[in-house]
Amino acid sequence: MRGQTAVILGLGRQGIALARYLAERGVHVRASDLRPSHAVGPVLKSLREYELDFVLGEHPQSLLDGADIIFVSGGVPTDIPLLQQARERGITLSNDSQLFLEKAPCKVVGITGSAGKTTVTMLAERIAAACGRFHQVWAGGNMGNPLLADGHRMTPQDVAIMELSSFQLEIMTVSPTVAAILNITPNHLDRHKTMQEYVEVKAHILDRQRSGDVAVLGWDDKTVRGLRDRVRGHCWGFGIGADPDFVDGCHLDGERIMLRRGGDSFPFATSKDIQLRGAHNKLNVLAAAALGAVVGVDPALMPTAIRGFAGAPHRMELVREINKVRWVNDTMATTPESTVAALQSFTVPVILMLGGRDKKLSWGDLAEQVKTGVKAIVLFGEAADLIEREIRRAWLVPLDKRTEVYGHGARIAEEGFRDESGSVFSSAMEPASNGPFPNFPELIPVDGLEEAVRHATSSAEAGDVVLLSPGCASFDDFSDASARGDRFRKLVQAL
Ligand code: ADP
Repeated sequence: MRGQTAVILGLGRQGIALARYLAERGVHVRASDLRPSHAVGPVLKSLREYELDFVLGEHPQSLLDGADIIFVSGGVPTDIPLLQQARERGITLSNDSQLFLEKAPCKVVGITGSAGKTTVTMLAERIAAACGRFHQVWAGGNMGNPLLADGHRMTPQDVAIMELSSFQLEIMTVSPTVAAILNITPNHLDRHKTMQEYVEVKAHILDRQRSGDVAVLGWDDKTVRGLRDRVRGHCWGFGIGADPDFVDGCHLDGERIMLRRGGDSFPFATSKDIQLRGAHNKLNVLAAAALGAVVGVDPALMPTAIRGFAGAPHRMELVREINKVRWVNDTMATTPESTVAALQSFTVPVILMLGGRDKKLSWGDLAEQVKTGVKAIVLFGEAADLIEREIRRAWLVPLDKRTEVYGHGARIAEEGFRDESGSVFSSAMEPASNGPFPNFPELIPVDGLEEAVRHATSSAEAGDVVLLSPGCASFDDFSDASARGDRFRKLVQAL
């Protein structure tokens, strides 16, 4: 690439790593970010030893003049006019993950999915490190540390485990030799216009694999299992179920964690080895174990690694217990689906903190889930009103069923609400004294995270869990979801 001109769009962690990498290899770098120069001060400082051209506050067409390649950060939508222009001019599109895969001297395991990527990447790293087979195990990618920055220290005896988001896969034209798709549920539909488009982007991780490569698919997810015919090499699966119909993979048989090879299964660990909460985390462990087995880890060495893994920070993380109330930080739950998974892992009453920036996903399943086990929902952030409306709407009951649901004598509110299909609905304000009134949680809209913590404190009683599992993106009020989790930790520590 020496002597070529590369454009970098977006100066986040990926963009910075790229700028360094390219500049050190004699590439002429044009780095552009929509933020103005005063907002990217630390970025400029971190790159001051390199001779780069910065174009800040805009992405003008002139960026493309004489450019050979354009690197697009995950946060930049791929349909902006500049990128359409780049395609028309025949300029190659790439990103840091693609460049890393092209240059990596060692085996690379790529992990994608709608939820669980970081958890599986971190556990797979531990499992791979436990076996002593590799000179060094590297983990990174979408989760924060771009692997490109460490590429020059890697050797052929290493293994790199890489988290890949749909935004990265969208423009990639290479696949890792071991690729996992954990699950595909609606996410980022604000960016990928349809579910079908989103599935296509995820499936992209399989498309450039070769016959000797391995794909590991989440078998319990119908959409992912449906991609098995697209696997070009060997197909592995993982799932909860005693007798799955995959030939190789990991599955759960009661309490036993099983490895299946050539159709025969044998146990190598038990679910008691798993510290993490919830059925979704059992799946994450199965995925990581399957990946471990694919790269040659002896299953006998896996239980110790699994037992020692308490989870990634900001995911179902117990921050503190105060007066027998447990405060749990699950800020990384940025979709309603993830919040449902988190709620399903508790058997005690939960006070749920929900809100942030809506991602245009359905709140229907969450509205169902919170009907049991959730005492109150504290709603904060930009989407608070919308979520309240969506949840209340999902709780409305067809008029002809209202006696069945609320009991005789319930005081009915919103009588006669009519939806698009013409059905007439109602909701109850007060239950009948003897009616089977569902125990819906109280909805408490508040101003921001700080006030949400205050309200949760006054609602919580001994034995409860206060759960920050927002179901939304964080960008309305925070730089990212970790910043939201950090703030939550601080507020809880100060209680
Ligand atoms: P990702 O890296 O894909 O965002 P994480 O491992 O960071 O996933 O987990 C983010 C959140 O998603 C967790 O806090 C949890 O609420 C939820 N989650 C994790 N794994 C799963 C899974 N397998 N299925 C559904 N939800 C999950």
